[in-house]
Amino acid sequence: MLLSVVIPLLNEAGNLVELHSRLAAVLDRIGAQRQILFVDDGSTDGSLEVIRRIAARDSTVGAIRLSRNFGHEIAMTAGLDAATGDATVIMDADLQDPPELIEEMAARWREGIEVVYAVRRRRDGESPFKKWTSWLFYRLLDKLSNIRIPLDAGDFRLIDRKVREAVGRCREHDRFVRGLVAWAGFKTAPVIYDRPPRAAGETKYGALMLLLLSVDAVLGFSIRPLRVASAAGFLVMLLSLASALVCLCVGAPGYALLTAGLFFLGGVQMLMLGILGEYIGRIYRQSQERPLYFVAETLVGGSSLNTAR
Ligand code: UDP
Ligand code: MG
Repeated sequence: MLLSVVIPLLNEAGNLVELHSRLAAVLDRIGAQRQILFVDDGSTDGSLEVIRRIAARDSTVGAIRLSRNFGHEIAMTAGLDAATGDATVIMDADLQDPPELIEEMAARWREGIEVVYAVRRRRDGESPFKKWTSWLFYRLLDKLSNIRIPLDAGDFRLIDRKVREAVGRCREHDRFVRGLVAWAGFKTAPVIYDRPPRAAGETKYGALMLLLLSVDAVLGFSIRPLRVASAAGFLVMLLSLASALVCLCVGAPGYALLTAGLFFLGGVQMLMLGILGEYIGRIYRQSQERPLYFVAETLVGGSSLNTAR
């Protein structure tokens, strides 16, 4: 059995040595053949040099350097494409995903579970704003999209080869990998953990990035926002009809209502156009059929990488 670990990273030089030693210890305990696969997503802090030094000591370490920063979701995809394991773990490089949890994940996988995802019970060292927004994000996502994405689970998970191949066949650009895994189906089970603070460096997900990711998550998996927009439009139509009737009855000055109504309708139309635009933007990007990423350099370690794509 071969266990791959995919680690997308951007400027994580300060975390990699500890990550590797903890990871190697756990994987040795599990007793599987291993493949540790770093995906350098355009780091500028010498992360790749650190990886090279690690790889010189450990032949099971490999790396892919993407030609520029493509973002976390795409970097994960590049790693999944290159992985060859019977099971593959996806994890962050900042030690917020404790490598030790992989032991429990592997045990569940051996019992036949095809997706073992880590659920965060506590999140230390993160701002109340981030905790609150992510709480809201997972609940909203659950309401707004058609697939059931596990609440409070990040990308940290173990997936079977079948799941990796299924997700790999989805080549959409605005990706939300967790959503794709949930959409793909298969037998899933959680393992629970307390999420520690980031070991070194700083987060790359500010409020705006998180908002954009939420938009991808919702629009990528549902057309419900379009329906909400249409329903809102219909409601506004009814309301303005009713108020026009009231105006006629009480003889209010027409211009007051007219101005308010004008602005209101203008706003509603812009909202609907915006939502339509989001979907059209997606169609546009998808119709370009560009590759998701480019690999600039491959450092082969352990079992050789999947370079067919
Ligand atoms: N990351 C990446 N490309 C990016 C941004 C982030 O590969 O453009 C990596 C990052 O190095 C880390 C993981 O994605 O390994 C999660 O990022 P981060 O810890 O900044 O997110 P947070 O945990 O704060 O949500
Ligand atoms: Mg992090």
